[in-house]
Amino acid sequence: MTTVVLRDLEMARNFPVQLPLDSVGASRANTTGCKTCGGRLEEVLITTFSCPVWEEWPLAVDGWSCRTCQSLQLPRFLEAEEVERLTSEGAQAVRSGHFPEAELAFRRICNSWPRYGPGRENLARALQYWLAHEEEAGQPEVVSRLAQEIERQLRDALEGDGLASRLTIVSGLVNCLLRREDKAAALALLAQELSRPEVESAKLQELRVWVEDRGDLYHRGVALLEPRIALHERPQDDGQAQIKQGIALLERHLEAAPESWPAMWFAGKGYQALGQNERALDHFRRSLALKADQSDVARECAITLMKLGRFAEAIDVSRQACQSEPGEGGLQANLAIACLLGEQLEPALEAARRAVELDGSDAISASVLKLVQDVREGRLPPPTSAAQLGF
Ligand SMILES: [Zn+2]
Repeated sequence: MTTVVLRDLEMARNFPVQLPLDSVGASRANTTGCKTCGGRLEEVLITTFSCPVWEEWPLAVDGWSCRTCQSLQLPRFLEAEEVERLTSEGAQAVRSGHFPEAELAFRRICNSWPRYGPGRENLARALQYWLAHEEEAGQPEVVSRLAQEIERQLRDALEGDGLASRLTIVSGLVNCLLRREDKAAALALLAQELSRPEVESAKLQELRVWVEDRGDLYHRGVALLEPRIALHERPQDDGQAQIKQGIALLERHLEAAPESWPAMWFAGKGYQALGQNERALDHFRRSLALKADQSDVARECAITLMKLGRFAEAIDVSRQACQSEPGEGGLQANLAIACLLGEQLEPALEAARRAVELDGSDAISASVLKLVQDVREGRLPPPTSAAQLGF
């Protein structure tokens, strides 16, 4: 096979990036000679891959070329084993983060077998990984090109054949529409799908609720925050821009779904990582009001109150958390610390002892008990701030 690389954008534009869904080309078994001169045909790949034109015009189409008169026939119908090989090459390229290589492999399949739904699904998925990568790297122009392309491939996949799950494609498409803030189009698509007999209507209804709640904003916000808010540990300093962006997405999700307590918790963790403890507290408190039995929320709420020097409230919240989960040693240790900071030494000792009783192997509980005993017996001065205790 000959590869013809087009380095000139104007020349490349004479070839469509995407062939129509009804294009069917000749395969090795049924090719005859050149339609113009009857000469012998050979396999050719026309592409802009590996030069800068690719970014603007990602052309990759297999065809037949005439040795005698140089005329071209597009596309070539790839053999099944070629499609299989390109699919595994594309998947491998995605795994190694070589996204343009993946796009090349899947585009060749899409142009050769245009109605083949799984080919488009694979292309869309590869581009989705690429998009997530560029979003993380803060490349809005690339993100926007990829988002458009993903949407186009998924729409064509729905028109095509051989899909394993129509619902997966619909949900991907819904994501695309929400990404460009077209909730009305997402709901219209779902309504249209609901009128089809073969789809699972319960799943579609679930998806509709998710659209109403803007679940996409929650997922995107959490994806940005999760690696940057060390759970149960000190917040990290890096990635401030991503943390702010993650919080903004969650705040918008909360406008659509005001009762989404996990979103409040995540936003609170984001504010905490930014050192905005008042805002963090506000979110933890609202989250706790909706989900009083969540010890994670209670713990963060108490820790934030301690950081703000509001020890009496921290004691109250910690005590409530201990009541809802009496078997949790960590919560007892937190209560002990809150009491210690609030200068309530007897309750602090009682809670620290209970923490050790509940989990004798826990080093933190043991060191909290020792700290309380040392303060109580005058060996150490009482701590006056959470920072002194390493919060
Ligand atoms: Zn010819």
